[in-house]
Parts: sequence; structure tokens; C-alpha cells
Amino acid sequence: MELQKIDIRSLTLDQLKAAFVANGDKAFRGQQVYEWLWKKSAHSFEQMSNLNFETRNWLQTNYAIHAVEVVDKQVSNDGTIKSGFKLYDNKLVEGVLIPADERMTACVSSQVGCSLTCRFCATGKLDRERNLSPDEIYDQVVHIRNWAQQHYQNPLTNIVFMGMGEPLLNYANVLKGIEKITSPEGLGMSAERITVSTAGIAKMIKKLADDNVRFNLALSLHAANDTKRNMIMPINESNNLKAVGEALQYFYKKTKKRVTFEYIAFKNFNEGLEDAKELLQFCKLVPSKVNIIEYNPTGDGQFEKADSSKIDKFCQYLEKNGVIAKVRRSRGKDIDAACGQLANKKHEEALIKEDQ
Ligand code: SAH
Repeated sequence: MELQKIDIRSLTLDQLKAAFVANGDKAFRGQQVYEWLWKKSAHSFEQMSNLNFETRNWLQTNYAIHAVEVVDKQVSNDGTIKSGFKLYDNKLVEGVLIPADERMTACVSSQVGCSLTCRFCATGKLDRERNLSPDEIYDQVVHIRNWAQQHYQNPLTNIVFMGMGEPLLNYANVLKGIEKITSPEGLGMSAERITVSTAGIAKMIKKLADDNVRFNLALSLHAANDTKRNMIMPINESNNLKAVGEALQYFYKKTKKRVTFEYIAFKNFNEGLEDAKELLQFCKLVPSKVNIIEYNPTGDGQFEKADSSKIDKFCQYLEKNGVIAKVRRSRGKDIDAACGQLANKKHEEALIKEDQ
């Protein structure tokens, strides 16, 4: 039986150095390998050209690099690029590059599937299969950064955790992945340009504050009234608006970071003046801004997107009352790359078939 190789990127720098020393080699070799893995994003031991053949062979025998592969990359009419990401165990997630002038935003996944079953979300219809590891999160960013360079000759400027999964239910790995993306030993990107989006796990929002994170936080709010929010986001039953609101106040007190509220406007559900008033009250809890998101139908006919005239009125009401609010039009619709579309069933099946 072949022994399971260790995912080399699960080791810390110290552990890597210790492994080399235990193998009768120099500690600095561990440092070199660490640089290949996290700074130069190496996906094979052969690439590590400053190591001799024996060392590379030893690595190859004992360790694996669980490299994420790009499958079925598609470019939308509006320049948005989406791809499936195949993980080492053949599971799939997806990521997107959203170009807007000089701004290049990567949208990445944190879990395979999702456990939260938000009614309007395509990923919510899948089971949560597993968490992504820090290296799988890092790899998605590296791939998307390469697309920005290849297609638009621009560096990646922003990262949002708005792909598949609930990042705060994969807390440790998401933070470790971000650490590799931001540290000078890794990609050296600014944490200020990263936004983690959550459906609202109060306890973990407080933990972010305690851990004094430097990245931004977005809450997928979608209704500022518990009855309505319970109807579309079951997580609200155990993490209601009061609990989430308090957690956000705690977060702001510690980090001084303004929170973003995402609010999908659904027709005949949450786009009326009463809803805007409730949202305004919620916004007063903590310095914040609102992104009003156009709903992308997921094919089950349960929800419809609100009329533009209603959305505009909704937005104007908020602005008139001192809230920073913007309407976000959907991008990449023709390739199912728009928000909430990443687990589009038909597409997922096609990806799986292609792989067989
Ligand atoms: N679990 C996290 C991150 C993934 S969802 C969260 O809930 O925030 C990323 C964003 O896409 C969330 O704001 C989510 O509410 C939104 N979204 C999901 N389905 C959508 C759809 N069909 N149309 C528009 N936005 C959608």
C-alpha cells in the first residue's frame, strides 16, 4: 500500500526546516522550499531548480503539492472570466475575475458546496462536502492573478470571498490562506484589499475582531427584519439580526473598519419603502455602506429580481438619509459567473462530464 503523502503546504516554515534537519540536510533548504511554495507558487518539485536531484526526489517520495487546476475557463462578453477549479480529490469549486477599468477583483471560494441553504443561492442547493485548505484558497488567487496579467496586463487589486461556501465556517483555513496571500513571504498583497463576505455567524464575527484582522467584512443581509430574513436565510434562526448586529458593533469597536451590507433586491419581497426604513435602522448600528445587488435567477423560479425603478427609489431613500448606497449590476451573466450562480447545476454537471 502506498503511504499517503503529506500535503507539503500544510507545514509551517519551522516544520519544514525541521523535516530537512531530520533528513540530515540543512535547515535553510526548508526555507528555500517554503519560498518556492508560497512566493513563487511552485506546483511541482521539479521546478525547484536550486535543489539537487536527491533532495527533489526525497520531497517527491514523501510529500505532495495539492495543486488546484483550472478547468473550463470562460470569458464573458463583459470581460469577466470564470473557471472551475479542480481540487486534488477531483472536487470542484469556482472562481471569477471581474475586471472594471484598472480594478481587477478575484472572487474565490472557501468551501466545496455550502451548509447554509440560503434559498436564493445556487450553492445553497448543494451539500457542503468539505472545507478548502489554505493552499487551495491561495492557489485560486494565484490563478486569477495570472488571468488579470495575461488578459488585461494588470495586477490583481482586490479579492472577495464571495464564491462558494461560507468563509466563517472555514475560519482557520480562510485566515491562514489570507495570511499567505498578504504576507511578504507569500504574495504580499494588501489585506485592506480583501473582503470576506459572511451570511452572518455572530460568534465568528466576534472572533475576527478578537483576532484583529486587517481585511474587510461584508454581511449578506438581504432583509433587516427577522421574519423575512428567516424565510430566505435559515442561518438567521440561530444568528438573528440582534445577535449579528451586536457582533458587528463588537467588530467595529475593535477594528474600526466600516462594514459592507449586501442586499439583494427581490421583487415583491424586500424592495419596498418599509424595507428600506428597516434597513436604514440596521445601518445605524455600525458605520457601514450598502451594496444593493441585482438578483440573478438560479433557475428555480422562486424569486424574481426587483424592477430597476424600485431599486433606484430604494437606493435614493437610503442616500437621502445619509447611508452610502450603491447599486451593483451583475457581471458575467452569459457565462453563469454572476453572484450566486457559481454552482449552477447544469454547468457543474458539464464540468464533471468533461473530466471523465
Ligand atoms: N456565504 C457567504 C459568501 C458567499 S455568497 C455570504 O453569504 O456572504 C456571496 C454573495 O452572493 C452573498 O452576498 C450572497 O447573498 C450573494 N448571492 C447568492 N446568490 C445570489 C443570487 N442568486 N443573486 C445575487 N446574489 C446572490
